[in-house]
Amino acid sequence: MAIPLMRTSPWIQVRNSKIHGKGIFAAKRIPKGTRIIEYIGERISHQEADARYADHDPNDNHTFLFIVDRKTVIDGGRKGNAARYINHSCDGNCESAIAERRVFIDAVRDIPKGEELGYDYEIGRDKNDPPNVDEIYACRCGSPKCRGTMLWPAKRPAQKKKAKAKKAKAKKSQTKTKKAKQKVAAKSTKRVARRR
Ligand SMILES: [Zn+2]
Repeated sequence: MAIPLMRTSPWIQVRNSKIHGKGIFAAKRIPKGTRIIEYIGERISHQEADARYADHDPNDNHTFLFIVDRKTVIDGGRKGNAARYINHSCDGNCESAIAERRVFIDAVRDIPKGEELGYDYEIGRDKNDPPNVDEIYACRCGSPKCRGTMLWPAKRPAQKKKAKAKKAKAKKSQTKTKKAKQKVAAKSTKRVARRR
């Protein structure tokens, strides 16, 4: 049986965030394990997502794209819901989960009323990243476990010369990708676009 659409949620409210722009806060105590809201938006191909945001400012870290799998990206910036305002946290009280090729935000611990929700975007690194990518995606989540960046892995992996030359041939998108925690295979996310 299909999971019902979870466009809105009784658990949350939108407020201004100290971390970044708007944030999502617990409207009441949320028990651990609660499926809080679905990440909704227009479902498009990776190709379409790349084309749509090809002109975005590379210094803009505001992102609404979420990768479902190799075929599909959800653009929360179009026909999206409040889920797009949930901020990144390196040690969040939530995590993203994929089910039925849809994305959901689940509580991973009991969340007291008024606390801001957050989950790890794990934005993927890319060979076309600008040198200051870690500055652009700097994290200010304030967690004691903050790794200082929304990117994953935390450090840029050392690149071999050969691999670099080969890679340079393949044209790749500039849109950034975020990954969900790997509970199930092929879960990853990608976000780009303005968040206010
Ligand atoms: Zn952080």
